[in-house]
Amino acid sequence: MKKIVWLPGDGIGPEVLTQARRVVDVIADKYGLELSHSEELVGGAGIDGAGHPFPEKTKKACLESDAVMLGAVGGPKWDHFTGEMRCESGLLAMRKALNVYANLRPVRVFQALIQCSPLKNERIQDGLDIMIVRELTGGIYFGEKGSDESRETAWDTMGYSRMEVERIVRLACDLARKRSKRVTSVDKANVLVVSQLWRKTAGAVAQENPDISMDYLYVDNTAMQLVVHPERFDVIVTGNLFGDILSDEAAVLTGSLGMLPSASLGDSGPGLYEPVHGSAPDIAGQDMANPIGTILSAAMMLRYSLGNEAAAKEVEAAVDAVLDQGYRTADIAQGGTVIGCAEMGSRIAEYIKNN
Ligand code: NAD
Repeated sequence: MKKIVWLPGDGIGPEVLTQARRVVDVIADKYGLELSHSEELVGGAGIDGAGHPFPEKTKKACLESDAVMLGAVGGPKWDHFTGEMRCESGLLAMRKALNVYANLRPVRVFQALIQCSPLKNERIQDGLDIMIVRELTGGIYFGEKGSDESRETAWDTMGYSRMEVERIVRLACDLARKRSKRVTSVDKANVLVVSQLWRKTAGAVAQENPDISMDYLYVDNTAMQLVVHPERFDVIVTGNLFGDILSDEAAVLTGSLGMLPSASLGDSGPGLYEPVHGSAPDIAGQDMANPIGTILSAAMMLRYSLGNEAAAKEVEAAVDAVLDQGYRTADIAQGGTVIGCAEMGSRIAEYIKNN
């Protein structure tokens, strides 16, 4: 029996997570998966219901689970909170507690949605399929920070240990082995000492993995190459700050934030799965959200936490099929039949049931 904790969170979080649950229920039936489910509070819902964005009860349930499925957190109602009471702080605390140091963001252009990409179609018509692997629990977001008001000065520090770099680059090599065996390690080694350690360590990991071809790029060049020659990339591995920026840049290449899934993994313990987008308060409660990013996050959960590649592929194929049939949520509407969040979820679930 595998335990899944569902954290709807705020805004469109509950809407998109409900659709992912529907798909997981159908796939579990089809494959005879034994799953147990529980639902907990997080984000603004955690503050309102339990006085904290990552309540103790939620933390305990997550730590005892095999996988955590998260909707999204945050919204104007909770924007005035500061420090550890901020919704984002709750998310950071969750990642730290679960020790999920690797954030995987696949960026794929869907043939049915090629018109939605801001890139010229000839740049992506042969497909775009990149896996961005971002270090998630170290670097500048977790370094020493401070400010000195009298000197009107503030600072954040970026540090990485060899161990932190080794484990993320090894993970990137393992992923690349199941893809086209290419890894690009991204840093700023021409300026930053921490990047010089990153590059040296990545080089040593490359020597341990002679079947993988590794190249090294500066982050500024990577930002440029992503829009000029996105096809040159397969797996990109980088630190927390660079990964945050590059993964958002790559995300828009696909046309909509609503399509993109993510997985955050550690060496053991539960994986954390969530769509890339936020709580979208502007469309919350209107049945307008695109649930596909969350449904594809559930596919990643089937793959990485439940070890069921066939079930994961079946969910991904169902998403492609429903898009090929011309169904679209409003964010990807160009030319298709516009349907709501719930109908998109049920069409994907029905496709799995009937095929
Ligand atoms: P956002 O991702 O919530 O929304 C950006 C834009 O994309 C909005 O116009 C929104 O309507 C649209 N959008 C997002 N997801 C969509 C979907 N599934 N379907 C259709 N349209 C979609 O980012 P934001 O507006 O910067 O932030 C809103 C709130 O979400 C803030 O409180 C922010 O802190 C929070 N946030 C949370 C997470 C998270 O939970 N991981 C991530 C980013 C932002």
